[in-house]
Amino acid sequence: MAAITEVNNSNGNAETNNGAHRTAAHTHIKGLGLDETGVARAVEGGFVGQVEAREACGVIVDLIKAQKMSGKAILLAGGPSTGKTALALAISQELGPKVPFCPVVGSELYSVEVKKTEALMENFRRAIGLRIKETKEVYEGEVTELTPEDAENPLGGYGKTISHVVVGLKSAKGTKTLRLDPTIYESIQREKVNVGDVIYIESNTGAVKRVGRSDAYATEFDLETEEYVPLPKGEVHKKKEIVQDVTLYDLDIANARPQGGQDVVSMMGQLLKPKKTEITEKLRLEVNKVVAKYIDQGVAELVPGVLFIDEVNMLDIEIFTYLNRALESNIAPIVVLASNRGMTTVRGTDDVVSPHGVPPDLIDRLLIVRTLPYNKQEIRSITERRAKVENLELSSESFDLLADMAMSTSLRYVLQLLSPSGILAQTAGRTEIIPSDIEEAKSLFLDAKTSTNILQTTANYL
Ligand code: ATP
Repeated sequence: MAAITEVNNSNGNAETNNGAHRTAAHTHIKGLGLDETGVARAVEGGFVGQVEAREACGVIVDLIKAQKMSGKAILLAGGPSTGKTALALAISQELGPKVPFCPVVGSELYSVEVKKTEALMENFRRAIGLRIKETKEVYEGEVTELTPEDAENPLGGYGKTISHVVVGLKSAKGTKTLRLDPTIYESIQREKVNVGDVIYIESNTGAVKRVGRSDAYATEFDLETEEYVPLPKGEVHKKKEIVQDVTLYDLDIANARPQGGQDVVSMMGQLLKPKKTEITEKLRLEVNKVVAKYIDQGVAELVPGVLFIDEVNMLDIEIFTYLNRALESNIAPIVVLASNRGMTTVRGTDDVVSPHGVPPDLIDRLLIVRTLPYNKQEIRSITERRAKVENLELSSESFDLLADMAMSTSLRYVLQLLSPSGILAQTAGRTEIIPSDIEEAKSLFLDAKTSTNILQTTANYL
């Protein structure tokens, strides 16, 4: 059964739009892998080892669920590639499906175009979700015919001809032949709708309404009467609950560039007048007000997600002050900071030396979780898991070689060698990756230490 009125989820699965490419390396992570009593199984949820940190994160998830984390943040402290990002992602997964996960690196907040506090606020709002529930009337019918055709644009598009689809719809009230506009046509193609499928078309007032997130409107044209007629009312109409997950950032954008539309999200995007062209603090406050109203009315529900800030030592005192304040807001995400530094000077100060470069007042608000380096067996096991996710076949010696290499380079480096090694094996006509493929991939792509060494020894040329 194809439901062409399902609203696409702009928020993907847990990761926010800017985070999707970052989380690709963690697709094997499915949660913290704890049992009912909060004890970590050695290998579970895609995780291998790092048992204490996983259990600590489990306690944090309980605190969040019990709403005992407001004003506090988490710091994951540990060496490179010890699973800090993976743990933060797992926390968001444990909090529920479609909980936003927004990963950023401290240094990314600095750019010439955007003020650093603006950049931080943008990411804050990417990490706060809103689940909007709408009950819509939908027209339900079985497709009896599907014929694409060119026709005059019934929306009065200056005589342009555009593709339409003629659909025969069989419903409880008999069969109607309708001509649907390109929006629905696209949906029909995307959803691979076939004759015999049951489809739903949104319809409140009679005219077929928006489908998906596209901005075009669909108008329905009855080929028998050659009129735009309302869709038949009565038993063919069904109420269907449509749930849409967006982030506050999506709403900011929608309000900054309103485009029209009739569903709740687009209407929320038009509530603020006059129309704005950029996201300002004032616009955010207004969006918050509208959101609060929708929450009060029970139409929307707030879904605080996880904002993960890696390399926290890169943040400066000004951002920390802002962060401190933002944590106190009643709509704040769960903030997870990560650091692989020890004592270091807080950026933007001359003499404040603090653990992880985090100012003392923020340190006081942190729950600190330590991640430990992996042993060879654990690394082998993680590599096996990644290979499986990436659909790669490796000989046992190849896994041994990768585990050895990780001990002198890093886990991330050997995980990154997997796909190039796969391509090299494929080029050689093999389905299995053997040690020589890995050696070749290693010679093509340097690890950080080797590249630093080369640069240091050739420093005279720089
Ligand atoms: P950095 O400090 O360099 O940012 P990190 O501590 O955030 O590193 P991750 O990026 O989480 O490390 O880990 C590197 C890779 O190893 C990722 O693909 C991650 O999913 C995987 N990984 C790390 N720890 C584990 C684990 N315990 N079990 C399974 N996979 C893991």
